[in-house]
Amino acid sequence: MRKIIFVTGNSHKVVEATRIMSPLGIEIEQNNCGYPELQEDKLEAIAGFGAKWAANKLNSEVMVDDSGIFIDALSGFPGPYSAYVARTLGNERILKLLEGDTNRRACLKCVIGYCRPGHEPMVFGGEVAGEIAKDIRGNLGFGYDPIFELGILTFGEMKDEEKNRISHRYRALLKFVRWLKENK
Ligand code: IMP
Repeated sequence: MRKIIFVTGNSHKVVEATRIMSPLGIEIEQNNCGYPELQEDKLEAIAGFGAKWAANKLNSEVMVDDSGIFIDALSGFPGPYSAYVARTLGNERILKLLEGDTNRRACLKCVIGYCRPGHEPMVFGGEVAGEIAKDIRGNLGFGYDPIFELGILTFGEMKDEEKNRISHRYRALLKFVRWLKENK
C-alpha cells in the first residue's frame, strides 16, 4: 500500500484521515515535526507553505491539513485564525458572540497540502456548509464539531463514519487521493 507521511500534531485528524484513506489504498504515517504556520488569510497558502517546508525538511513526500470554520454572521471569522480562536475564546464564547443572531450559517473548510522534496506543493480543498448550533451538543469529534450542525445533529453528535462520509476533510482527501492515483 502507498504510504504518505502526514505532518500534524492533531491525532483526531490522523484518525479521520486514516479511516478515509485506507479503504482507498493509502496508508498514513503521522509525523509530529511541525512546520511554520504562515499568518495568511487563505488556508491554501498556509497548507501549501507547510507541505513544502516539511517535504524539504523530511526529504520525503508529505501531506498536511489546514482547516477552519467560517461563520457568515462574523464575515467569515475566525477562518484561518480558527486554531487561535479555539484556544482563546472556545466554543462557548463563540455561541455568545452569535446570541440573538438569526443568521447561523457557517462553513467548515479543509485544505490538504501535498509536496515532494524539491517540488512545488499541490493543494486540495473541501468544504461543508452547515449552521452554528444554539448550544454545545455531543462529545464526539473535536474542535468546533459540537457547535457545527448539519440537519438535526452536530458533528459532535455524529459517529465517525457519518462525519467521514460528508465532512470537509473527506471531500478534500477524496480529491487528493484521486490526484495521487493519477500522478504516481
Ligand atoms: P488547524 O487546521 O489545526 O489549524 O485547526 C484549526 C482549528 O479548527 C482547530 O481549533 C481545530 O480544532 C479546528 N478543526 C480542525 N478540523 C476540524 C473539524 O473537522 N471539526 C471541527 N473543528 C476542526
